[in-house]
Amino acid sequence: MNTTPSPSASARYNFLFSSSSPSRALPPSRALSLTATATLFPSHSSPPSSVSLTTSFSFFQNPNFITGNSLFHSMQRFCSGSSMSRNKAMVESLQRYGVIRSNKVAEVMESIDRALFVPNGAGAYIDSPMSIGYNATISAPHMHAMCLQLLEKNLQPGMHALDVGSGTGYLTACFGMMVRPEGCAVGVEHIPELVSSSIENIQKSAAAQLLKDGSLSVHAADGRKGWPEFAPYDAIHVGAAAPEIPQALIDQLKPGGRMVIPVGNMFQDLKVVDKKSDGSISVHTETSVRYVPLTSREAQLRGY
Ligand code: SAH
Repeated sequence: MNTTPSPSASARYNFLFSSSSPSRALPPSRALSLTATATLFPSHSSPPSSVSLTTSFSFFQNPNFITGNSLFHSMQRFCSGSSMSRNKAMVESLQRYGVIRSNKVAEVMESIDRALFVPNGAGAYIDSPMSIGYNATISAPHMHAMCLQLLEKNLQPGMHALDVGSGTGYLTACFGMMVRPEGCAVGVEHIPELVSSSIENIQKSAAAQLLKDGSLSVHAADGRKGWPEFAPYDAIHVGAAAPEIPQALIDQLKPGGRMVIPVGNMFQDLKVVDKKSDGSISVHTETSVRYVPLTSREAQLRGY
């Protein structure tokens, strides 16, 4: 059976993935309710006829693992070969599926090897969120691609980008590559150990020079307050779900700027917030998603 969705239709579909990590079990009551929500999210239209529900429907057992949120099972694994060639194959798959539509996003994702940002490099090219410890996850490749694509016009050379909940530093590195030269990319992450490891990851990547020249930086802080030092931002990405859009982030968005932020608790929407030149705000929902919460460090470390 052909389980490959057509590129345009597949991009509109989000599937939850199952976790392969047995390390953090859920209390039974939570497991039950979350399992019940593990479903295919038809975001904007009816399913493409070639999508197989048996391959797309899956369960997750662990809410700590569900960041990133979606995608097509049939592109979980990419071709064998060297790390960079497998990274390239992953990017090409995302292009075929219509998630990546611009050459610039493809080039940047090709230049930043995802394996450098995944613990031990294992499973780097599988289209699934993965645990990075501290009850956090690295988002699935298609979610990174989708956010880069949504923010592309606001990630031009010379622009300022803020990545809240920067985790592994993968997207911060991509932002840095998009806005160079003369631009500035800032990651804010509230787990200091993740800040340190993300800096090590970036140092091994094609974005290393940006760290050296100071156009890319990662800071340990509560990202709900943004990072005023380099504000206003043309692009803000939030990698964790907020109950509501933090006012400080709206304030730090430049007129003409765009923020992409998951909003909600159990059920979340990826919101796109545009600040017009007169300072007014428009918000639209891009798709349904599932991210870990944007919360306090204490709440995160005790499991929310
Ligand atoms: N986008 C990143 C990480 C996503 S997981 C990646 O793909 O690698 C969400 C991240 O948000 C986690 O690393 C978590 O520690 C962080 N986070 C949650 N609440 C936060 C807050 N209030 N301030 C800063 N970071 C936060």
